[in-house]
Amino acid sequence: MPLSVREQPYKIPEYSLTGDLLAYLTCGLQYRYHNRGSLPPSTPVQLWFGEFIHAVMEEAYLEWQQNQQRRRFPWSWDPEIRDIELQINRRLRARGLNPPPWLFCPYDSSFTRQGWCPNVNHPHQLIASQRTEAAINTWGQHLFPLIDEAEVRLKGIRDMLNYRPGVSRCNYYGITGVIDVISSVDLQNAPSGNLILHYISQNPEVQEIINNLASPEYEIIIDYKGMRRPPTNDPTWQHHEWQILTYAWLRAQQHQSRPIVAGIIFYLNELALSQEDIRRLQKDVRNNSTDIMPQGLDSQAIQNWRRNTTPPTLSRPFKEQRSIKIISVDDIHVQNSLQAFDNVVGNIESCVLFEMAGRSITSSWNPNPIERNCTACDFKTFCPNPAPRQYHPTVP
Ligand code: SF4
Ligand SMILES: [Zn+2]
Repeated sequence: MPLSVREQPYKIPEYSLTGDLLAYLTCGLQYRYHNRGSLPPSTPVQLWFGEFIHAVMEEAYLEWQQNQQRRRFPWSWDPEIRDIELQINRRLRARGLNPPPWLFCPYDSSFTRQGWCPNVNHPHQLIASQRTEAAINTWGQHLFPLIDEAEVRLKGIRDMLNYRPGVSRCNYYGITGVIDVISSVDLQNAPSGNLILHYISQNPEVQEIINNLASPEYEIIIDYKGMRRPPTNDPTWQHHEWQILTYAWLRAQQHQSRPIVAGIIFYLNELALSQEDIRRLQKDVRNNSTDIMPQGLDSQAIQNWRRNTTPPTLSRPFKEQRSIKIISVDDIHVQNSLQAFDNVVGNIESCVLFEMAGRSITSSWNPNPIERNCTACDFKTFCPNPAPRQYHPTVP
């Protein structure tokens, strides 16, 4: 009796919005080595801080929800926020993510050696901790009362662009994402004096969408970013908008969703700038390439700042405005962002097919040599085209 041959499993390639699509847009070649080769980055400063701040905000929300005493703000850094930080640090270490030196003090006052810190007087409120304190006390107190769901996992299916039977891997692709927070607002019971709703009310495009709603309830998608506000001429600016708009499309397919009117990105580094952040802000201001320009004393402080000196103290409203970006959600923009990501997936699939056909990695995947990417890249010593110069291998 002839035995039937089992067919090849029908597998739909799955793409994560941030882990695959945004990573590929940052640099195709780096994405190939890290994500498809499963090599973890060795110097994960941005990765560590991104994971850390997300987890701290999530934990702070749970404490706010469960403990009545945490309903008043500001929270003190030590012990209220510090306890959360140490707990999250332990959790990240268990996953092999250790805090980069000079970013976070991992010691308590009983530790008598200096470790990576400036002296033995632990704990130090280094920059990661300055940001957690500012994030909770600036945005947490207004955001937590609006939170409906946190860490919302989403999944959808899209047609594969330029599908070619027998050549392409599949005629569909799966797209996945995790929304940090979904805020639900009922206009009839909206909390008064809420800073986030104030910013929403200042945005005419979002207001028009709200005014045309059939019901008084709507949703806002929130995403935290452990980075500074990108300049408006940086592709990342646009990519983040696509991310939020695609989340909106995915969320709208869940039965419990209400109309999504806006997305908010919190660029949390804006609340406490490092020297590198202020250097780049100064450049953006000089080039007029940022949408939130400083005025008066803030402008003077930024213009007069000199390299390798402490970042200046900037006003609270300026830091607040730079740390929040509102994206209105309408059908046209959503469709545009979906098409943009369809194209990105089409490009990744082409690279995969090139490699499957025997081309080398470096000729299948395009590098994106910009200084910001390459300086922190593990592959710069053998990348064919790193920026801004030739890197040489060093002995560890
Ligand atoms: S060195 Fe730069 S161009 Fe090369 S892989 Fe790394 S990020 Fe991409
Ligand atoms: Zn310390």
